[in-house]
Amino acid sequence: MNIILAKPRGFCAGVTRAIETVERAIAKFGAPVYVRHEIVHNKFVVESLRQKGAIFVDEVDQIPAGAITIFSAHGVSDRVEEDSIARGLDVIDATCPLVSKVHREAKKYEEEGYEIILIGHRGHPEVEGTSGRVKKDVILVTDENDARTVQVKNPEKISYVTQTTLSVDDTKKIVDILEERFPQMQRGLATKDICYATQNRQDAVRQLSKMVDVLLVIGAANSSNSNRLRDLGEECGLKSYLINGFEDIDENWLKGVENIGLTAGASAPEVLVQGVINRIKELSTNEVKVSDMEGITENTFFVLPRKVRK
Ligand code: SF4
Repeated sequence: MNIILAKPRGFCAGVTRAIETVERAIAKFGAPVYVRHEIVHNKFVVESLRQKGAIFVDEVDQIPAGAITIFSAHGVSDRVEEDSIARGLDVIDATCPLVSKVHREAKKYEEEGYEIILIGHRGHPEVEGTSGRVKKDVILVTDENDARTVQVKNPEKISYVTQTTLSVDDTKKIVDILEERFPQMQRGLATKDICYATQNRQDAVRQLSKMVDVLLVIGAANSSNSNRLRDLGEECGLKSYLINGFEDIDENWLKGVENIGLTAGASAPEVLVQGVINRIKELSTNEVKVSDMEGITENTFFVLPRKVRK
């Protein structure tokens, strides 16, 4: 049996930065530090940080006045920032710089008088954060059906931004429909807001799917980019499973399988990949060979928030 590992896979620069921000804040200011929402969508990561002294909350009104408060990688709305200031919280913003870029883009479009369409998943924290960065209501488009039916006030003056972790293919289809319906819509590359890590991991799965019989994706059920990897595996004709870690593997999935593809979403640590490899070795009666597919090496790096730099 062969396990072929996707390349790239796992942590992106935004997730690495967010986790390091929490670790450094605990080291510098002492526990506890408060984190609004899961710092990244991965239970293993959240639990490790909890054990080091992070307290995760849903809203800033659960945080004592003056406490060190970290915003998650998904970003927050203006309201959350204002509420934090009003509570006197000592905020460290771990929003991924690529999410902040979308926030700035949305604000700029609003200042220029555009009505804004936001392509993304309803209820995702990033979508809530981006929607809350503009004063007027954004129009949420979640799928092709929404794109076909959405109504705008002035078709001559609309623009769009997207969530950073969407399916590249689905987003292109949605934008194509919008461009056809609204020829005056401000143009741009359909995938302009989808981050490098999401695009690279999807490209890797597309390649990997040609080499394997089944795909395992390590990632949380609420992780958008991990779900898209699983979806993509299915679209490429593979049985594809989203798992939190080795404990979720059903040995029936591996019966009669020669080549297993293994990848991890941008918030899943490499230690979980190793756990899955070990579990497959335990389950297999044959020798298991592990190899990396050929793929790009990412070298994107984001500087830490000022308050936690050395
Ligand atoms: S997935 Fe992309 S947008 Fe999200 S934290 Fe990673 S680099 Fe940033």
